Amino acid sequence: MSVNEIIIIGGGPAGYTAALYASRGNLEPLVFEGFEHGGQLMITSDVDNYPGFPEGILGPELMEHFRNQATRFGARLVSDDVTRVEFSDDPIARPHRVFVGDQEHLAHAVVVATGATARQIGLESERRLQGKGVSYCAVCDAAFFRGAHVVVVGGGDSAMEEATFLTKFADRVTIVHRRTELRASKVMQDRARANPKIEWMLGAVVDEVLGDGKLAAVRVRDAGTGEVTEIAADGLFVAIGHDPTTSLFTGLLEMDENGYLIPQPGSTATNVPGVFAAGDVADHVYRQAVTAAGSGCAAALDAERWLTAAREAAAAAATSLA
Ligand code: NAP
Repeated sequence: MSVNEIIIIGGGPAGYTAALYASRGNLEPLVFEGFEHGGQLMITSDVDNYPGFPEGILGPELMEHFRNQATRFGARLVSDDVTRVEFSDDPIARPHRVFVGDQEHLAHAVVVATGATARQIGLESERRLQGKGVSYCAVCDAAFFRGAHVVVVGGGDSAMEEATFLTKFADRVTIVHRRTELRASKVMQDRARANPKIEWMLGAVVDEVLGDGKLAAVRVRDAGTGEVTEIAADGLFVAIGHDPTTSLFTGLLEMDENGYLIPQPGSTATNVPGVFAAGDVADHVYRQAVTAAGSGCAAALDAERWLTAAREAAAAAATSLA
């Protein structure tokens, strides 16, 4: 079986950018972009903060550009989900193995760019109005809600941060949280509580998102009394956490308590030689398409240098044996 120089797992901004750089570095990357490729931008309508598009661009269109640019230089895209991996830090046990069902693929280097997904409330109406008033990223979408009333769901640091950020644009922000106690750190709570534009509905759950083609209101149920209130709103920001897509790597790659990969400081290298992490799978702080793309570039460059060093080390070892 032939050994690929590099396999990239993931078809979002990080994976495609790693593919672009790896293909321009003549590494002929094999990219498992996933069955539903494109990542989180596929559920985003207008993207106004991706540099290079002064008029903005639709999320799916931007991802199509990423994809086409990667294939232009020879990246081989496979629209399948990886089902299992075998990584080893023992050089004897390498190359690394990547499986799609029964099919096995070998590679000297692997970039993991499997991303993270924003948690959803789980309502059909929430899905229907995604990008039409329902958002999962205030930094991305707050500017569309100038002078508006928006609802933020969640009681953690993200919800406090998103609500506070939204008040730069929206006139009113209502935080709806399922418990009467917040999970957020005191400093973040205090900042939100001190903001006169923020209102609170604690001990309440969103049980329907209303609107025909565009969000018009959010139906909220009091968790104690069951009383239902309809809040007229222009936007709903769901800030109930993210889940990194890392179950494939449990026990193989170093992760934090929330499942995010932990690269070596100042690098995209993971704890396994030849395996690199890029994008939201290793970033619970910035979570932007542009930062994911930047780290995809870094991972491809790190992988290229690692491959060169590994080849040189193998050649030196062969010479000393001869
Ligand atoms: P989180 O801490 O897990 O909080 C998620 C919140 O959403 C919780 O309040 C939770 O309610 C609620 N929630 C979860 N599922 C829900 C559902 N299905 N329906 C309604 N509500 C739901 O997530 P996070 O706020 O994204 O923070 C993640 C990590 O990043 C944390 O460690 C946080 O400190 C960190 N962070 C730090 C900063 C900062 O320091 N600037 C900013 C953002 C995030 P319950 O409380 O009832 O469980």
